[in-house]
Amino acid sequence: MTRPNTHYADLQDSYLFRRIAQKTARFEQEHPGTHLYRMGIGDVSLPLCDAVIRALHEAVDDQAHADRFHGYMPECGAPFLRETIAAHYGSRGVSVDADEVFVSSGASDELGDILDLFDPSSSAMVIEPAYPAYVDANVMAGRPVVHVPACEEEGFLPRPCESARADVLYLCSPNNPTGAVYGKAQLQEWVDFANDCGSVILFDAAYEAFIEDEELPHSIFELEGARTCAIEICSLSKTAGFTGTRLGYTIIPRELVRCGMSLHDMWVRNRTTKTNGVSYIIQRAGAAVFTPEGQQQIREGIAVYKRNAQVLMRALGAAGIWYCGGRNAPYLWLRCAGGMGSWEFFDYLLREIQVVGTPGEGFGSCGEGYFRLSTFGDPQDTIEAARRLECLLTQR
Ligand code: PLP
Repeated sequence: MTRPNTHYADLQDSYLFRRIAQKTARFEQEHPGTHLYRMGIGDVSLPLCDAVIRALHEAVDDQAHADRFHGYMPECGAPFLRETIAAHYGSRGVSVDADEVFVSSGASDELGDILDLFDPSSSAMVIEPAYPAYVDANVMAGRPVVHVPACEEEGFLPRPCESARADVLYLCSPNNPTGAVYGKAQLQEWVDFANDCGSVILFDAAYEAFIEDEELPHSIFELEGARTCAIEICSLSKTAGFTGTRLGYTIIPRELVRCGMSLHDMWVRNRTTKTNGVSYIIQRAGAAVFTPEGQQQIREGIAVYKRNAQVLMRALGAAGIWYCGGRNAPYLWLRCAGGMGSWEFFDYLLREIQVVGTPGEGFGSCGEGYFRLSTFGDPQDTIEAARRLECLLTQR
């Protein structure tokens, strides 16, 4: 009898979005015709920008001509895209070689696949509340998970401590779900900790494009010593609306060596074995994001989400609700009003003002009592949701 990977039986039921969908469907059934203000979505709502659409069309046309046609692409990424991304880092003062850039189909794929680099017994530290894939990818592989709770008193940005010791350290900044962002000094503490312990940081920078405060780091490689202890995982999903188009990139420095083995070289070997690269058409679209025109256009899209954030922040501020995030991240993380639990608050907002958010408890038990609002929704809906939130929560 074939034995399945029994570690799958250890996974917690991923009930969060299913339960939200069930509750909203029931509400809609009982209140036909009622409009819901969906502030829970983690997907983008704006279309791809013109520069990307043009690149996609041109790349499709290339595939129709024998002299411009592309078959298999290099497994680690097309040189034109790897060089473009390395130059983008260079323009921010971070030196990265093109062959340290690995093109991927998105951050989710990489966050799971990258575990191949570590011994099967390696432990992973996850700061919670957290993006659920970190814990689940490790549980599936039967790896021990060290849970580090984050709390309001430290702005949901815990510092390294003895109980955070693990082989692999997940850091996500700007954070999903809390929207909290590490400053340089705080992130430097994690880099120093990882180098002292011999750990490897997996730095999830999926939301770096939302950072507007100049002093905040976009990349872990802005910190001294990061090249010997960190891998950076990035995505164009939220930066440029590629959630359905699928493109990301991962930076693995050549200096990242453990037990005499180069993790960079191991990843080259991994990719050349387990993938045949990302499609030419999509990589062309990705390269268009980094042109001056593409950068200008994606900034305009991000500005729309940032205006949504400002509207929601103003409403929460006026209602006297504690929150973090929003300024440098597309999520706001707030304390549920009146000491309510996360699901109680979810039901309350749905019932009273038809606003749908995400209960914090779904991101780990220490998210209980908190709630996530997303800024990726429709601007008109966001304005009305903010008005309703302010009105309801000010009354309390
Ligand atoms: N990392 C974080 C923190 C995310 O929130 C998400 C998506 O919501 C991802 C990674 C996945 O990004 P991708 O669409 O590139 O797979």
